Amino acid sequence: MSASRPDTQPAASSIDGLRLDAALQLLQRAGHEFPDGPRDAVWLQKVLDALCDLSSRDALTGLANRRQFELALDREADRVARSGEPALVLLLDIDHFKRVNDTYGHAAGDLVLQAVARTLQDCVRPMDTVARYGGEEFAIVLPNCPPAFAQAAAERVRRAVEAQAVSVASGITLSVTLSAGGAFAPPWVRSSARLWTERADNQLYRAKAEGRNRTCLEPTAVSHVSAEERGMLFGVTQSAPIDEPSSTSSA
Ligand code: GH3
Ligand code: MG
Ligand code: MG
Repeated sequence: MSASRPDTQPAASSIDGLRLDAALQLLQRAGHEFPDGPRDAVWLQKVLDALCDLSSRDALTGLANRRQFELALDREADRVARSGEPALVLLLDIDHFKRVNDTYGHAAGDLVLQAVARTLQDCVRPMDTVARYGGEEFAIVLPNCPPAFAQAAAERVRRAVEAQAVSVASGITLSVTLSAGGAFAPPWVRSSARLWTERADNQLYRAKAEGRNRTCLEPTAVSHVSAEERGMLFGVTQSAPIDEPSSTSSA
């Protein structure tokens, strides 16, 4: 007795009944064009990829949205826990942004948000994820960012925004500042993206309280790992604790 094959359609030809009009309208509105052609599995995959891209971006600035940022942060927290490589998260909040809206209008505020987003994106590495975290709040995950470079990286971002002039109407140019708080993911420790951002948020709160237009980073806590682990983390082999000042003196 021979078994009969189930009468199933191959996936490539089974998408005709799907209701895709609403999805295609959304994509078209966001600038995605789908050329006419066979609506097969390859075409459907392109639609799904475009929808994923759309649902991971902030509509105003084109940056990663909070959902996408949290995914990136989860991945990075996990990677740091396994590899011990240092990674920094920065939370950035525009100073007195309400005044911009109140004085020049919401549309001008939107132009400022778009300009700040471009500047942030321009002054980080391709491997860093820049996101719009909330209204006038942004966030950046910087993988492989050693503490020795972190302050400089955060300050580069702050200064770039401070130096930017945004044209919001004929003859009206604005500049804004931002405050930034940063924290490192704990290496070799099971932590969570939530705890990591909470610590960065505490530093952002400190930056605001200390006068705004500044960056505050959490001091790096290396005491809970062994000297050998520290050596692995920073790529050094000497036994001297790396968080103590060098004993060499100049004459
Ligand atoms: P602080 O220095 O303490 O951060 O003061 P702030 O004025 O920046 O903070 P506050 O939270 O009081 O105001 C944030 C403002 O951001 C209020 C809100 O209207 C504005 N905002 C949030 N999202 C948008 C947006 O998408 N477009 C515009 N134009 N404004 C927005
Ligand atoms: Mg805010
Ligand atoms: Mg603000």
